[in-house]
Amino acid sequence: MSPWSKEIWRLIWLTGLALIIGFISGYALACLLITSVGYLIWHINSIKRLEKWLSKPGKTNPPQGTGIWAEIFDRIYHLQKQNRSRKKRLAKYITRFRESTAAMPDATVVLNRYDQIEWINKAAQDSLGLQPTKDVGQHLSNLMRHPGFIRYISRKDFDSPIELPSPADEHRTLSIRIIPYGQDQRLLIARDVTRLKQLEQIRRDFISNISHELRTPLTVIHGYLESMQDETNDSLQDWQENIEMMRRQSNRMQNIVDDLLMLSRLENEETKQSSREAVAVPNLLHMIKDEAMALGHEKQQRFTLECDDELGIFGVQNELYSSFSNLVFNAVRYTPKGGSITMRWYQDQNGAHFEVQDTGIGIPPQHIPRLTERFFRVDVGRSRDIGGTGLGLAIVKHILERHNASLSITSQVDRGSTFRCNFPAENIIHHVQKAVTKA
Ligand code: ADP
Repeated sequence: MSPWSKEIWRLIWLTGLALIIGFISGYALACLLITSVGYLIWHINSIKRLEKWLSKPGKTNPPQGTGIWAEIFDRIYHLQKQNRSRKKRLAKYITRFRESTAAMPDATVVLNRYDQIEWINKAAQDSLGLQPTKDVGQHLSNLMRHPGFIRYISRKDFDSPIELPSPADEHRTLSIRIIPYGQDQRLLIARDVTRLKQLEQIRRDFISNISHELRTPLTVIHGYLESMQDETNDSLQDWQENIEMMRRQSNRMQNIVDDLLMLSRLENEETKQSSREAVAVPNLLHMIKDEAMALGHEKQQRFTLECDDELGIFGVQNELYSSFSNLVFNAVRYTPKGGSITMRWYQDQNGAHFEVQDTGIGIPPQHIPRLTERFFRVDVGRSRDIGGTGLGLAIVKHILERHNASLSITSQVDRGSTFRCNFPAENIIHHVQKAVTKA
Protein backbone atom coordinates (compact mmCIF):
# COMPACT_ATOMS: atom_id res chain seq x y z
CA MET A 1 0.00 0.00 0.00
CA SER A 2 1.30 3.46 -0.87
CA PRO A 3 2.11 5.83 2.02
CA TRP A 4 -0.62 8.16 0.82
CA SER A 5 -3.33 5.41 0.95
CA LYS A 6 -2.00 4.40 4.40
CA GLU A 7 -2.46 7.99 5.56
CA ILE A 8 -6.05 8.10 4.19
CA TRP A 9 -6.81 4.86 6.06
CA ARG A 10 -5.30 6.30 9.22
CA LEU A 11 -7.58 9.36 8.89
CA ILE A 12 -10.68 7.18 8.28
CA TRP A 13 -9.74 5.04 11.26
CA LEU A 14 -9.25 8.08 13.55
CA THR A 15 -12.53 9.68 12.39
CA GLY A 16 -14.34 6.37 12.94
CA LEU A 17 -12.88 5.99 16.45
CA ALA A 18 -13.81 9.61 17.31
CA LEU A 19 -17.38 9.01 16.07
CA ILE A 20 -17.77 5.75 18.06
CA ILE A 21 -16.45 7.39 21.27
CA GLY A 22 -18.61 10.43 20.51
CA PHE A 23 -21.81 8.37 20.09
CA ILE A 24 -21.10 6.33 23.22
CA SER A 25 -20.37 9.46 25.28
CA GLY A 26 -23.07 11.57 23.59
CA TYR A 27 -20.50 14.23 22.48
CA ALA A 28 -19.96 13.17 18.85
CA LEU A 29 -19.18 16.68 17.52
CA ALA A 30 -16.77 17.52 20.36
CA CYS A 31 -14.89 14.20 19.87
CA LEU A 32 -14.61 14.86 16.13
CA LEU A 33 -13.30 18.39 16.80
CA ILE A 34 -10.72 17.19 19.32
CA THR A 35 -9.50 14.51 16.89
CA SER A 36 -9.22 17.05 14.02
CA VAL A 37 -7.30 19.53 16.19
CA GLY A 38 -4.97 16.71 17.35
CA TYR A 39 -4.39 15.66 13.73
CA LEU A 40 -3.66 19.26 12.73
CA ILE A 41 -1.22 19.72 15.64
CA TRP A 42 0.62 16.56 14.54
CA HIS A 43 0.99 17.96 11.01
CA ILE A 44 2.08 21.42 12.21
CA ASN A 45 4.62 19.83 14.52
CA SER A 46 5.99 17.72 11.69
CA ILE A 47 6.25 20.78 9.38
CA LYS A 48 8.13 22.61 12.15
CA ARG A 49 10.61 19.73 12.49
CA LEU A 50 11.02 19.63 8.73
CA GLU A 51 11.73 23.35 8.58
CA LYS A 52 14.23 23.06 11.47
CA TRP A 53 16.01 20.16 9.78
CA LEU A 54 16.21 21.87 6.38
CA SER A 55 17.56 25.07 7.87
CA LYS A 56 20.47 23.23 9.58
CA PRO A 57 23.65 23.64 7.51
CA GLY A 58 25.70 20.64 6.42
CA LYS A 59 24.87 16.99 6.37
CA THR A 60 22.40 16.00 9.18
CA ASN A 61 20.15 12.99 9.67
CA PRO A 62 16.43 13.53 9.09
CA PRO A 63 14.10 13.87 12.13
CA GLN A 64 12.15 10.83 13.26
CA GLY A 65 8.67 10.89 11.75
CA THR A 66 5.54 8.82 11.71
CA GLY A 67 3.01 8.08 8.98
CA ILE A 68 3.25 10.14 5.79
CA TRP A 69 5.87 12.38 7.43
CA ALA A 70 8.32 9.51 7.87
CA GLU A 71 8.05 8.96 4.12
CA ILE A 72 8.45 12.70 3.33
CA PHE A 73 11.55 13.00 5.55
CA ASP A 74 13.02 9.91 3.97
CA ARG A 75 12.45 11.12 0.41
CA ILE A 76 13.92 14.56 1.07
CA TYR A 77 16.93 12.90 2.70
CA HIS A 78 17.47 10.76 -0.41
CA LEU A 79 17.11 13.77 -2.73
CA GLN A 80 19.68 15.64 -0.65
CA LYS A 81 22.05 12.69 -0.88
CA GLN A 82 21.61 12.51 -4.67
CA ASN A 83 22.18 16.27 -5.01
CA ARG A 84 25.29 16.08 -2.89
CA SER A 85 26.82 13.34 -5.03
CA ARG A 86 25.84 15.18 -8.26
CA LYS A 87 27.50 18.33 -6.92
CA LYS A 88 30.59 16.34 -6.04
CA ARG A 89 30.69 14.86 -9.56
CA LEU A 90 30.27 18.32 -11.15
CA ALA A 91 32.96 19.79 -8.94
CA LYS A 92 35.24 16.94 -10.01
CA TYR A 93 34.50 17.66 -13.71
CA ILE A 94 35.16 21.38 -13.22
CA THR A 95 38.42 20.67 -11.42
CA ARG A 96 39.46 18.28 -14.17
CA PHE A 97 38.50 20.88 -16.86
CA ARG A 98 40.44 23.57 -15.05
CA GLU A 99 43.44 21.33 -14.53
CA SER A 100 43.53 20.36 -18.23
CA THR A 101 42.96 23.92 -19.52
CA ALA A 102 45.46 25.23 -16.99
CA ALA A 103 48.02 22.85 -18.47
CA MET A 104 47.19 23.88 -22.05
CA PRO A 105 49.84 25.93 -23.87
CA ASP A 106 47.07 28.14 -25.35
CA ALA A 107 45.79 31.03 -23.27
CA THR A 108 42.22 30.33 -22.09
CA VAL A 109 39.83 32.86 -20.56
CA VAL A 110 36.28 32.04 -19.44
CA LEU A 111 33.95 35.02 -19.90
CA ASN A 112 30.40 35.56 -18.70
CA ARG A 113 27.58 37.11 -20.73
CA TYR A 114 28.82 40.64 -19.92
CA ASP A 115 32.35 39.79 -21.14
CA GLN A 116 33.65 39.84 -17.58
CA ILE A 117 36.50 37.45 -16.79
CA GLU A 118 35.44 34.42 -14.74
CA TRP A 119 38.58 32.33 -14.94
CA ILE A 120 41.98 32.36 -16.65
CA ASN A 121 44.70 29.75 -17.07
CA LYS A 122 48.44 30.09 -16.59
CA ALA A 123 49.15 30.68 -20.29
CA ALA A 124 46.69 33.62 -20.28
CA GLN A 125 48.78 35.24 -17.56
CA ASP A 126 51.91 34.94 -19.70
CA SER A 127 50.61 35.84 -23.13
CA LEU A 128 47.69 38.18 -22.35
CA GLY A 129 49.24 39.71 -19.24
CA LEU A 130 46.14 38.97 -17.14
CA GLN A 131 46.34 38.39 -13.39
CA PRO A 132 44.01 35.95 -11.63
CA THR A 133 43.82 37.92 -8.39
CA LYS A 134 43.31 41.38 -9.86
CA ASP A 135 41.56 40.82 -13.16
CA VAL A 136 38.88 38.22 -12.47
CA GLY A 137 35.53 40.04 -12.56
CA GLN A 138 36.88 42.82 -14.81
CA HIS A 139 35.56 43.54 -18.32
CA LEU A 140 38.01 41.98 -20.78
CA SER A 141 37.76 44.98 -23.12
CA ASN A 142 39.06 47.21 -20.27
CA LEU A 143 42.22 45.10 -20.08
CA MET A 144 42.79 44.32 -23.77
CA ARG A 145 42.58 47.73 -25.41
CA HIS A 146 43.85 46.91 -28.93
CA PRO A 147 41.35 48.56 -31.37
CA GLY A 148 41.24 45.38 -33.50
CA PHE A 149 40.24 43.34 -30.46
CA ILE A 150 37.60 45.87 -29.31
CA ARG A 151 36.09 45.70 -32.82
CA TYR A 152 36.22 41.89 -32.81
CA ILE A 153 34.54 41.48 -29.43
CA SER A 154 31.84 44.06 -30.11
CA ARG A 155 31.07 42.74 -33.62
CA LYS A 156 29.99 39.42 -32.08
CA ASP A 157 30.93 37.53 -35.24
CA PHE A 158 33.36 34.92 -34.00
CA ASP A 159 33.50 32.64 -37.06
CA SER A 160 37.14 33.37 -37.74
CA PRO A 161 40.04 34.28 -35.42
CA ILE A 162 41.93 37.58 -35.42
CA GLU A 163 45.65 38.11 -35.17
CA LEU A 164 47.02 40.70 -32.77
CA PRO A 165 50.30 41.55 -31.06
CA SER A 166 50.39 40.08 -27.56
CA PRO A 167 49.47 42.67 -24.87
CA ALA A 168 52.30 41.24 -22.73
CA ASP A 169 54.98 41.32 -25.45
CA GLU A 170 54.43 43.20 -28.71
CA HIS A 171 56.99 41.04 -30.54
CA ARG A 172 54.74 38.02 -30.19
CA THR A 173 51.69 37.51 -32.41
CA LEU A 174 48.56 35.85 -31.08
CA SER A 175 45.72 34.28 -32.99
CA ILE A 176 42.67 34.99 -30.82
CA ARG A 177 39.36 33.23 -31.13
CA ILE A 178 36.18 33.51 -29.05
CA ILE A 179 33.96 30.44 -28.79
CA PRO A 180 30.41 30.93 -27.44
CA TYR A 181 29.12 28.05 -25.28
CA GLY A 182 26.48 27.23 -22.65
CA GLN A 183 24.12 30.04 -21.72
CA ASP A 184 25.72 33.21 -23.11
CA GLN A 185 29.16 32.16 -21.90
CA ARG A 186 32.30 32.50 -23.97
CA LEU A 187 35.69 30.95 -24.08
CA LEU A 188 38.60 33.00 -25.39
CA ILE A 189 41.49 30.97 -26.77
CA ALA A 190 44.71 32.72 -27.77
CA ARG A 191 47.44 30.80 -29.61
CA ASP A 192 50.98 32.03 -30.10
CA VAL A 193 51.54 32.12 -33.90
CA THR A 194 54.78 34.12 -33.83
CA ARG A 195 56.82 31.28 -35.34
CA LEU A 196 54.23 30.73 -38.08
CA LYS A 197 54.22 34.45 -38.90
CA GLN A 198 58.02 34.44 -39.04
CA LEU A 199 57.99 31.47 -41.43
CA GLU A 200 55.37 33.21 -43.60
CA GLN A 201 57.52 36.33 -43.65
CA ILE A 202 60.60 34.28 -44.59
CA ARG A 203 58.62 32.70 -47.46
CA ARG A 204 57.42 36.12 -48.66
CA ASP A 205 60.88 37.63 -48.42
CA PHE A 206 62.33 34.67 -50.29
CA ILE A 207 59.89 35.07 -53.19
CA SER A 208 60.33 38.81 -53.24
CA ASN A 209 64.16 38.55 -53.17
CA ILE A 210 64.39 35.84 -55.78
CA SER A 211 62.07 37.76 -58.10
CA HIS A 212 64.18 40.91 -57.70
CA GLU A 213 67.38 38.92 -58.31
CA LEU A 214 65.98 37.32 -61.46
CA ARG A 215 64.65 40.51 -62.93
CA THR A 216 67.95 42.08 -64.02
CA PRO A 217 69.53 38.99 -65.67
CA LEU A 218 66.25 38.32 -67.45
CA THR A 219 66.06 41.86 -68.79
CA VAL A 220 69.62 41.51 -70.08
CA ILE A 221 68.96 38.13 -71.72
CA HIS A 222 65.71 39.42 -73.23
CA GLY A 223 67.44 42.53 -74.56
CA TYR A 224 70.21 40.49 -76.21
CA LEU A 225 67.71 38.09 -77.76
CA GLU A 226 65.76 40.99 -79.23
CA SER A 227 68.89 42.54 -80.73
CA MET A 228 69.91 39.13 -82.10
CA GLN A 229 66.54 38.95 -83.83
CA ASP A 230 67.10 42.36 -85.40
CA GLU A 231 70.63 41.39 -86.45
CA THR A 232 71.11 41.02 -90.19
CA ASN A 233 74.24 38.96 -89.75
CA ASP A 234 74.06 35.86 -92.00
CA SER A 235 75.54 33.56 -89.36
CA LEU A 236 72.43 34.13 -87.19
CA GLN A 237 69.88 33.48 -89.92
CA ASP A 238 69.69 29.73 -89.21
CA TRP A 239 69.15 30.50 -85.55
CA GLN A 240 66.21 32.86 -85.94
CA GLU A 241 63.60 30.21 -85.10
CA ASN A 242 65.45 29.19 -81.94
CA ILE A 243 66.06 32.80 -80.96
CA GLU A 244 62.34 33.53 -81.32
CA MET A 245 61.53 30.56 -79.07
CA MET A 246 64.08 31.73 -76.47
CA ARG A 247 62.69 35.27 -76.65
CA ARG A 248 59.15 34.00 -76.07
CA GLN A 249 60.26 31.90 -73.08
CA SER A 250 62.27 34.76 -71.57
CA ASN A 251 59.25 36.98 -72.04
CA ARG A 252 57.12 34.43 -70.19
CA MET A 253 59.67 34.33 -67.34
CA GLN A 254 59.63 38.11 -67.18
CA ASN A 255 55.84 38.06 -66.88
CA ILE A 256 56.05 35.49 -64.06
CA VAL A 257 58.67 37.55 -62.22
CA ASP A 258 56.58 40.72 -62.64
CA ASP A 259 53.46 38.95 -61.31
CA LEU A 260 55.43 37.49 -58.37
CA LEU A 261 56.79 40.93 -57.52
CA MET A 262 53.29 42.39 -57.69
CA LEU A 263 51.98 39.63 -55.41
CA SER A 264 54.72 40.11 -52.84
CA ARG A 265 54.16 43.86 -52.89
CA LEU A 266 50.45 43.28 -52.28
CA GLU A 267 51.26 40.89 -49.41
CA ASN A 268 53.98 42.95 -47.78
CA GLU A 269 52.79 46.51 -48.09
CA GLU A 270 49.84 47.97 -46.27
CA THR A 271 47.74 50.22 -48.51
CA LYS A 272 48.79 53.80 -47.82
CA GLN A 273 45.83 56.00 -46.93
CA SER A 274 47.17 58.62 -49.35
CA SER A 275 46.94 56.22 -52.31
CA ARG A 276 43.22 55.70 -51.75
CA GLU A 277 41.00 57.95 -53.81
CA ALA A 278 37.59 58.20 -55.42
CA VAL A 279 38.06 55.96 -58.45
CA ALA A 280 36.01 56.62 -61.57
CA VAL A 281 35.44 52.96 -62.36
CA PRO A 282 33.43 53.70 -65.56
CA ASN A 283 36.51 55.42 -67.04
CA LEU A 284 38.68 52.41 -66.17
CA LEU A 285 36.18 50.04 -67.75
CA HIS A 286 36.01 52.00 -71.01
CA MET A 287 39.81 51.84 -71.19
CA ILE A 288 39.87 48.12 -70.40
CA LYS A 289 37.17 47.46 -73.00
CA ASP A 290 39.26 49.18 -75.70
CA GLU A 291 42.34 47.16 -74.75
CA ALA A 292 40.34 43.92 -74.64
CA MET A 293 38.90 44.66 -78.10
CA ALA A 294 42.41 45.08 -79.43
CA LEU A 295 43.48 41.83 -77.73
CA GLY A 296 40.47 39.89 -79.03
CA HIS A 297 40.48 41.52 -82.46
CA GLU A 298 41.63 38.42 -84.32
CA LYS A 299 39.04 36.26 -82.58
CA GLN A 300 36.16 38.53 -83.70
CA GLN A 301 34.67 38.52 -80.23
CA ARG A 302 31.72 40.75 -79.30
CA PHE A 303 32.18 43.12 -76.35
CA THR A 304 29.40 44.77 -74.35
CA LEU A 305 29.81 47.18 -71.45
CA GLU A 306 26.78 47.86 -69.26
CA CYS A 307 27.89 50.49 -66.86
CA ASP A 308 26.40 52.84 -64.25
CA ASP A 309 28.31 55.98 -65.24
CA GLU A 310 27.68 57.70 -61.91
CA LEU A 311 29.00 54.84 -59.80
CA GLY A 312 32.51 54.96 -58.39
CA ILE A 313 34.30 53.49 -55.40
CA PHE A 314 36.89 54.50 -52.90
CA GLY A 315 40.07 52.54 -53.55
CA VAL A 316 43.47 52.33 -55.22
CA GLN A 317 43.08 53.10 -58.91
CA ASN A 318 45.99 51.11 -60.37
CA GLU A 319 45.16 48.05 -58.24
CA LEU A 320 41.54 48.11 -59.38
CA TYR A 321 42.68 48.54 -62.98
CA SER A 322 44.97 45.54 -62.58
CA SER A 323 42.29 43.23 -61.15
CA PHE A 324 39.50 44.24 -63.56
CA SER A 325 41.79 43.97 -66.60
CA ASN A 326 43.04 40.56 -65.41
CA LEU A 327 39.48 39.24 -65.36
CA VAL A 328 38.58 40.77 -68.73
CA PHE A 329 41.77 39.61 -70.47
CA ASN A 330 41.23 36.10 -69.06
CA ALA A 331 37.72 36.17 -70.56
CA VAL A 332 39.24 37.13 -73.92
CA ARG A 333 41.88 34.42 -73.72
CA TYR A 334 39.58 31.62 -72.59
CA THR A 335 36.74 32.44 -75.02
CA PRO A 336 37.01 30.99 -78.51
CA LYS A 337 36.53 32.83 -81.81
CA GLY A 338 33.18 34.55 -82.27
CA GLY A 339 32.29 34.40 -78.56
CA SER A 340 30.97 37.30 -76.55
CA ILE A 341 32.17 39.05 -73.43
CA THR A 342 29.91 41.23 -71.30
CA MET A 343 31.15 43.58 -68.59
CA ARG A 344 28.74 45.01 -66.05
CA TRP A 345 29.25 47.64 -63.38
CA TYR A 346 26.21 48.17 -61.17
CA GLN A 347 24.93 48.69 -57.67
CA ASP A 348 22.33 46.78 -55.65
CA GLN A 349 21.35 46.59 -51.98
CA ASN A 350 24.54 44.59 -51.20
CA GLY A 351 26.99 47.07 -52.69
CA ALA A 352 28.74 47.65 -56.02
CA HIS A 353 29.58 44.80 -58.40
CA PHE A 354 31.88 44.36 -61.37
CA GLU A 355 30.97 41.34 -63.45
CA VAL A 356 32.66 39.75 -66.47
CA GLN A 357 30.58 37.17 -68.29
CA ASP A 358 31.98 35.18 -71.19
CA THR A 359 30.77 32.43 -73.48
CA GLY A 360 34.11 30.64 -73.23
CA ILE A 361 35.39 27.18 -72.38
CA GLY A 362 34.09 27.30 -68.78
CA ILE A 363 35.63 25.66 -65.71
CA PRO A 364 34.75 22.23 -64.23
CA PRO A 365 33.08 22.77 -60.79
CA GLN A 366 35.77 20.86 -58.83
CA HIS A 367 38.44 23.38 -59.95
CA ILE A 368 36.52 26.57 -59.08
CA PRO A 369 37.53 26.71 -55.34
CA ARG A 370 41.24 26.43 -56.30
CA LEU A 371 41.37 29.05 -59.08
CA THR A 372 42.83 31.81 -56.89
CA GLU A 373 45.73 29.63 -55.67
CA ARG A 374 49.13 30.61 -57.04
CA PHE A 375 50.09 28.71 -60.20
CA PHE A 376 46.82 26.81 -60.27
CA ARG A 377 45.68 26.28 -63.84
CA VAL A 378 42.88 24.05 -65.09
CA ASP A 379 44.86 23.21 -68.21
CA VAL A 380 48.57 24.03 -67.76
CA GLY A 381 49.40 23.54 -71.44
CA ARG A 382 46.65 25.85 -72.67
CA SER A 383 47.50 28.54 -70.12
CA ARG A 384 51.18 28.46 -71.17
CA ASP A 385 50.29 28.59 -74.86
CA ILE A 386 48.33 31.77 -74.37
CA GLY A 387 51.00 33.35 -72.21
CA GLY A 388 49.36 32.82 -68.81
CA THR A 389 51.40 32.84 -65.61
CA GLY A 390 48.86 31.17 -63.33
CA LEU A 391 49.14 34.14 -60.96
CA GLY A 392 46.47 36.47 -62.34
CA LEU A 393 43.56 35.36 -60.17
CA ALA A 394 45.78 35.21 -57.06
CA ILE A 395 46.58 38.89 -57.69
CA VAL A 396 42.88 39.67 -58.22
CA LYS A 397 41.99 37.99 -54.90
CA HIS A 398 44.67 39.94 -52.98
CA ILE A 399 43.61 43.25 -54.48
CA LEU A 400 39.96 42.61 -53.68
CA GLU A 401 40.84 41.68 -50.08
CA ARG A 402 42.65 45.01 -49.76
CA HIS A 403 39.38 46.67 -50.80
CA ASN A 404 37.25 44.57 -48.40
CA ALA A 405 35.72 43.03 -51.49
CA SER A 406 35.22 39.41 -52.53
CA LEU A 407 35.34 37.39 -55.74
CA SER A 408 32.57 34.98 -56.74
CA ILE A 409 32.85 32.62 -59.69
CA THR A 410 30.15 30.67 -61.51
CA SER A 411 30.88 28.60 -64.57
CA GLN A 412 29.62 25.86 -66.82
CA VAL A 413 31.93 23.83 -69.01
CA ASP A 414 31.61 24.80 -72.71
CA ARG A 415 29.00 27.42 -71.82
CA GLY A 416 31.06 30.13 -70.19
CA SER A 417 32.00 31.73 -66.88
CA THR A 418 31.06 34.73 -64.79
CA PHE A 419 33.58 36.36 -62.46
CA ARG A 420 32.06 38.90 -60.07
CA CYS A 421 33.84 41.33 -57.74
CA ASN A 422 31.60 42.41 -54.85
CA PHE A 423 32.43 45.70 -53.13
CA PRO A 424 30.80 46.70 -49.82
CA ALA A 425 28.23 49.50 -49.93
CA GLU A 426 30.36 51.73 -47.67
CA ASN A 427 33.03 52.00 -50.42
CA ILE A 428 30.57 53.41 -52.96
CA ILE A 429 30.93 56.98 -54.18
CA HIS A 430 28.28 58.56 -56.41
CA HIS A 431 28.82 61.26 -59.04
CA VAL A 432 32.35 60.01 -59.22
CA GLN A 433 33.52 62.32 -62.04
CA LYS A 434 33.16 65.27 -59.67
CA ALA A 435 34.84 63.35 -56.87
CA VAL A 436 37.82 62.55 -59.08
CA THR A 437 38.41 66.15 -60.14
CA LYS A 438 38.26 67.16 -56.49
CA ALA A 439 40.64 64.37 -55.34
P1 ADP B 1 46.47 32.19 -66.09
O1 ADP B 1 47.60 33.10 -66.24
O2 ADP B 1 46.82 30.76 -66.28
O3 ADP B 1 45.27 32.63 -66.86
P2 ADP B 1 44.94 32.94 -63.79
O4 ADP B 1 45.30 32.93 -62.35
O5 ADP B 1 44.51 34.20 -64.40
O6 ADP B 1 46.15 32.28 -64.54
O7 ADP B 1 43.78 31.87 -63.97
C1 ADP B 1 43.91 30.60 -63.42
C2 ADP B 1 43.19 29.56 -64.22
O8 ADP B 1 41.79 29.81 -64.17
C3 ADP B 1 43.52 29.62 -65.71
O9 ADP B 1 44.67 28.86 -65.98
C4 ADP B 1 42.29 29.00 -66.33
O10 ADP B 1 42.38 27.59 -66.29
C5 ADP B 1 41.17 29.44 -65.38
N1 ADP B 1 40.43 30.60 -65.89
C6 ADP B 1 40.57 31.89 -65.54
N2 ADP B 1 39.69 32.68 -66.17
C7 ADP B 1 38.94 31.88 -66.94
C8 ADP B 1 37.84 32.09 -67.84
N3 ADP B 1 37.32 33.30 -68.05
N4 ADP B 1 37.32 30.99 -68.45
C9 ADP B 1 37.83 29.77 -68.23
N5 ADP B 1 38.86 29.49 -67.41
C10 ADP B 1 39.42 30.54 -66.77
